[in-house]
Amino acid sequence: MRTIGLIGGMSWESSAEYYRIINQCVRDRLGPLRSAQLLMYSVDFGPVEQAQHAGRWDDAALILEAAARRLQAGGAECVVLCTNTMHLVAPRIEAAVSIPFLHIANAAGAAAVQAGTLTVGLLGTAFTMEQDFLKARLTAQGLTVLVPEAQERQAVHRIIYEELCVGVMSDASRKVYQGVIQSLAARGAQAIILGCTEISLLIKPEHSDLPLLDTTELHAKAAVAFALQD
Ligand code: GLU
Repeated sequence: MRTIGLIGGMSWESSAEYYRIINQCVRDRLGPLRSAQLLMYSVDFGPVEQAQHAGRWDDAALILEAAARRLQAGGAECVVLCTNTMHLVAPRIEAAVSIPFLHIANAAGAAAVQAGTLTVGLLGTAFTMEQDFLKARLTAQGLTVLVPEAQERQAVHRIIYEELCVGVMSDASRKVYQGVIQSLAARGAQAIILGCTEISLLIKPEHSDLPLLDTTELHAKAAVAFALQD
């Protein structure tokens, strides 16, 4: 089995999900007492989040480059960055190490294409919904990507940082997300990419009119496929 390297902490609420899903998949595949060989370097989200909102992406990149190098030095054979937003600096992290970087949008895009859902709605932080780093990679895989309207984007973004990243799940916010999913469906979305690794803590398949493509689960499964050399 190859050793997986996770860069976590953004937030740790979702890193814990990566750890759980990866180990569950390895157990399902290899047997009850089997578990993943992995390293997690979990950063302090505070300075990263401050850098994001101040537009200091270079500072955030330096933190994540250092984390990736530490993972490689510790024996990791791939890097899995457990957040969609910080894929904004993915090229920097990829260039900092010589082991493969498993991009979150490749996992999500492949699942959408495989399901035949070519028009997808994308939920995530404002950075993810408004900038091109994730959307361009999805579009390159043949997908049409719809994002919520400005006011909806603001609400989706606020709930991620003020609630989901600090472990708060509320019915009121679930309703907000359900409304956003309904408007994306009305505009032609055939599935929703949960393009923020905490959203699946709040929105489960039974809460959505459309099929969900959860980046946390898909990315974790891509890590397992790499580890087991599928
Ligand atoms: N985990 C989130 C994501 O997938 C948001 C937190 C962050 O900004 O890294 O984008």
